[in-house]
Amino acid sequence: MTDDRDLREEMIATCLRMNASGLNIGAAGNLSVRVEGGLLITPSGIAYDKMRPEQIVEMDWEGRYYGDFVPSSEWRFHYDILKARPDVDAVLHSHAVNCSILACCRLDIPPVHYMIGVSGGDVVKCSGYAPFGTAELSVEALSALEDRMACLLGNHGVIALGKTPAKAFAVLEEVENLARVYIGTRMLGGGVILGKEEMTVVLERFKSYGKQADEAVDTAVKNRVEPPPHGGSKRL
Ligand SMILES: [Zn+2]
Repeated sequence: MTDDRDLREEMIATCLRMNASGLNIGAAGNLSVRVEGGLLITPSGIAYDKMRPEQIVEMDWEGRYYGDFVPSSEWRFHYDILKARPDVDAVLHSHAVNCSILACCRLDIPPVHYMIGVSGGDVVKCSGYAPFGTAELSVEALSALEDRMACLLGNHGVIALGKTPAKAFAVLEEVENLARVYIGTRMLGGGVILGKEEMTVVLERFKSYGKQADEAVDTAVKNRVEPPPHGGSKRL
């Protein structure tokens, strides 16, 4: 077993946060993280509030697992996505209700709000349906994801990706919010969908979103200077 107790604890904390935030119900969701030689994944059938770090399951790149606990029944798409997407290290899946509503209608989320840029593109696509736990579902998920960070799973739920569990959580949280906004705009007769040109500008700006000054392209982020000599701002 890899010595990764902090990471295992972080995984459980992310799942607890997911449920506490209303982004998942019960034990439906699951989380995996890339480690050396394979991945860690939440176990099957153990409630998050009862889950202990040693119950997180380690798998290798042959699809085999170590230890006494069985990996999540949805391990297959975690494994296939981590294999196919070297740019991501965490895969978070849930049955978030608004994403699931759209997924049950087989609707993509269009660029109805600029924050869709968080998902790494101008659309969150909904995949076709395949039974949970199957290799067919992995194929559907990968084709809906392409190079983006999120997709809906037809008649099922949502997948969010990131470099870390926290980043995947942030994508999930935003995509669920986008799903809620999109459902609301459809109820009001349909929102104004942003065009390709508008989204090109958004996606360019998102390159520095959440980044620190040394890696940012946004001038407002780059404009950092040393504090003024008087030691800070004073009230006039
Ligand atoms: Zn599921």
